[in-house]
This record gives sequence, C-alpha cells and structure tokens, in this order.
Amino acid sequence: MRDYLQFYIDGKWVDPIVANAAEVINPATEEVSGHISLGSNADVDTAVAAARQAFDSWSQTSVEERLAVLRRIQEQYNARAADLGAAVTEEMGAPVELGNGFHTILGGGHLQTAIEVLEKYQFEELRGQTLFVKEPIGVCGLITPWNWPLNQVAVKVFPALAAGCTVVLKPPQLAPYSAQILAEIIDAAGVPAGVFNMVQGRGSEIGTAMSVHPDIDMISFTGSESVGVEIAKNAAPTVKRVCQELGGKSAYIVLDDELLNDKVAAACGGMMMNCGQTCSAGSRLLVPANRLQDAMATIKNVVGSMTVGDPHSGVTMGPVVSKSQYNIIQDYIQKGIDEGAEVIVGGVGRPDGLNKGYYVKPTVFLTNNATTIAREEIFGPVLCLIPYHDLDDAVAIANDSDFGLAGYVDGADLATCNAVARRIRAGAIYVNGGFDFHSAFGGYKKSGNGREWGEEGFDEYLELKCILGYAP
Ligand code: NAP
Ligand code: MG
Repeated sequence: MRDYLQFYIDGKWVDPIVANAAEVINPATEEVSGHISLGSNADVDTAVAAARQAFDSWSQTSVEERLAVLRRIQEQYNARAADLGAAVTEEMGAPVELGNGFHTILGGGHLQTAIEVLEKYQFEELRGQTLFVKEPIGVCGLITPWNWPLNQVAVKVFPALAAGCTVVLKPPQLAPYSAQILAEIIDAAGVPAGVFNMVQGRGSEIGTAMSVHPDIDMISFTGSESVGVEIAKNAAPTVKRVCQELGGKSAYIVLDDELLNDKVAAACGGMMMNCGQTCSAGSRLLVPANRLQDAMATIKNVVGSMTVGDPHSGVTMGPVVSKSQYNIIQDYIQKGIDEGAEVIVGGVGRPDGLNKGYYVKPTVFLTNNATTIAREEIFGPVLCLIPYHDLDDAVAIANDSDFGLAGYVDGADLATCNAVARRIRAGAIYVNGGFDFHSAFGGYKKSGNGREWGEEGFDEYLELKCILGYAP
C-alpha cells in the first residue's frame, strides 16, 4: 500500500492544510493500491508563494549552476528508475516491460534533452543596436494526465527548471505515484527550496485554482480538449500564457509497396502499445484499397495474437486506466458496431478469462472516415482501418479531422513518404518510425497550442525582452 499523503512545497514534505485522503485504484486488480491527499486552494496558494519567492534567485542562476542541479537530478533519476517503472505499472497498468522501458526512458530522455538544450541555448542575440534577451517566464503551473504520467511530467518540469522557471506541479489523481517519486528524486538532488513544488488533488479544484492564480505566469497543460478549453478561459483574465497539448486522431498512412504487411504490423503495435492511451497514437490506419485484404490478414494475425492481462505476466497490454475509461471505450466499440463498421478483430467486453480489472480487447474496425469512431479520440485500444484510393485521397482523409497532433507515413520510397508527410496538417509526422527527443511535439487545430520536447519546448518557458539602443 502506498500512502503519499504529503505535498512537496518549499523544499519540504508538508501536510495538506485540510486533511482529505482519497483512494487510488490499481486498474489491474480494481483494488485500492494506496492513498493521496486532495489539496485545496490554500495548498495551491502556499505552493505558488514558495515558487514566487524562489523565482527571484533561481531565475538569476547561471547556466552552469542549473546544469549542475539537473545532473544531480539525473543521478537520482537513474538510481530510482526501477521505482519509477513500478509506480507507473501500479498507477496506470502498463506492462512491467513498458513501465520499466519506454515510460521511464521517455522521462529520462526529456531530462537529458533539457540538459543538452541548456548547454547550447542562445539566451541573447544582438541584432543591430537591439539586444534580444530570453528570460524565464516566471512561476509555471504544470497540469498533467495519467496516460504517460512520467513522460508528461518530465517534458514539462525539466525544461521549465532548465529555463530558470519555478514550478507548481499537479499530477493526475488516477496516476499520482510516479510524480511523487519524481518529487523525492528532486528533493534528494538538493534542488533549492521553492523551485519545484507539487500539490496533488482534483483538477476541477486545484487545477482551476492554478489557472486563475494571479501569481502564476504560465500554465502548461496536457489532457482533454474540454479541460484545455476551460483552463484557457479561466486563465484569460490574468493574461497568462497557456500551452495546451490536447487530443489527436492521427492518420497512419501505409504506402502501396512490398513493405505493406510489415508496416501495417508496425502500425498495430504502435497503436496498441500503452492500450491505445497515447495522444499521438496512429488511430486511423490508411491503406491502399487494392491491398485491403493483405492489410486485414496482417491485422487479424498481429492484433489477434496480442495478449492482454496482468501487467506482471509478460503481456502485450495491461488494463486501461480506470473504470470510467473502460466504459467510455466499450461505448465507442458498441457505437462502431451500431454505425455499421466491420469488426476485424476484438469487440465489446473483457478478453476471455479476465473477470476483474479494466481489460479491453484490442479492437480493429474496417470503416470510413465519417463514423464517430474515426472522428473522436477514443483513447483506448481501438484502431480504425480506412482504405484510400490514391495518395491525394489518403492526404485528404488524413487532414479531414478536427485534430492535428501527429501523422505517420511508412513506405519503401523515402521521397514519396516525405512528400506525403509535407502535406499532412499536424505538428509531428513520423516517417518509417522516426524518433527524436530534439524534435518538437504539439498540435495543429484542436490538438493544442504550443510545443513540447527539444528546443521549442524549452522556448515555451521563456519571455522575450528587447533592449533597444543597447549597442552604441
Ligand atoms: P483531463 O480531464 O483532461 O485531465 C488531465 C489533467 O487535467 C488532470 O490532471 C486533471 O485532474 C486536470 N483537470 C481536470 N479538470 C481540470 C480543470 N477544470 N482545470 C484544470 N485542470 C483540470 O483528462 P482525463 O479525464 O484524464 O481523460 C479524459 C480524456 O482526455 C481521455 O479520454 C482522452 O481522450 C483525453 N486525454 C488526452 C491526453 C493527451 O495526452 N492528449 C491525455 C489524457 C487524456 P484530475 O486528476 O482531477 O483528473
Ligand atoms: Mg477528467
């Protein structure tokens, strides 16, 4: 049982101002796995005051000083990687190999990236007589979701600290453990008091308190579109910067060539990893109509042989995060059937032999781009297979979406892949599995505003000052 009842404020573990413990459920067992405290507005005020006070000195530290702090965090992070992985598995049900693998690697990767960006970053530039100076924006409120919990905390906290900002982090109630361990890591690394603060609790309460707070200069949020909109509205009167990393319904285009079966298999693997709970998941798989039978055979084979169950038992997929997400996903699968989409593999209900835990059958539908399941973000292991006639048609289908977070183009001819990639209206296009911590991640259209990862993610935490007449 994990009991994480204290918050981390001003360099200390502190009790909530009003005690208010809540249960955390292990989605694999539906049993209580621990407790957190739900904070109040007063806890947020205390955390913001600590961050505000620490900003004066932290924002004035040298690059070398901040690099030294980040490298100390890195030592602690590496020492506790196994604890972080176990926490991710327990809080959101990722298979052990994924929790200890990609979840933890992503978190560490963002830390290393923040270090590399800070090492080379040009904070000042003289253009004519004017000096352009980039300065830390101030106190940042960071609000994160449960789906890649460590990744999403790391991709905000580390660039913010590297830039010279101080932060108040609100992790998700559904997945609060990895953030707690990260706070322990930051504490053990000797980060100065008030630079990093963490309050757990309800988004509707403390997330709102942060959004409206006059002493928070910037909110970085990852999560649903509806909450992203609400935060922006709540933040508007204080004219703070709001960065939103929201949902997606990204297209995965497979070209008509000899690699098709391998690429369809890769698309299925990427989609079902983390139970489809990935904002950038390629949840619409676009294949040439003349190769539909090949694609369907591959899907039956690949997805049909994926295993679902106890995340400690070497399965492909654990449970989805919560009962509520389970129900939402079941409703979408039923809706797909009701709207006439053809189930290639999967369907409603738990996989055979599983009676407890929020387990979902990996499901693939043959459908068209007009159905609800092809238009809305399901955030579960549900893939839409959509045939296209030619590449113009594929691009049109890919872009016929309210979202624009990511895109995927796979094929043997790189020049063709790249030409298709250029035509997709989304923030990150992955060609043949390309991956780069120094790329930028973020959305066009309703997928958000702003960018994370790499140098562009670092920029989000900076303000620009011009000193005119600086040079003689
Ligand atoms: P969510 O409601 O958007 O939650 C994300 C974070 O925002 C959580 O920390 C949440 O706190 C907080 N929050 C909730 N209401 C808030 C408010 N009014 N003001 C400020 N912060 C607030 O996401 P969810 O409920 O976890 O998932 C719902 C759907 O969102 C999913 O089905 C999926 O479609 C989408 N989603 C997208 C992403 C993504 O990466 N793009 C990630 C997660 C979810 P609590 O701890 O109280 O929830
Ligand atoms: Mg919610």
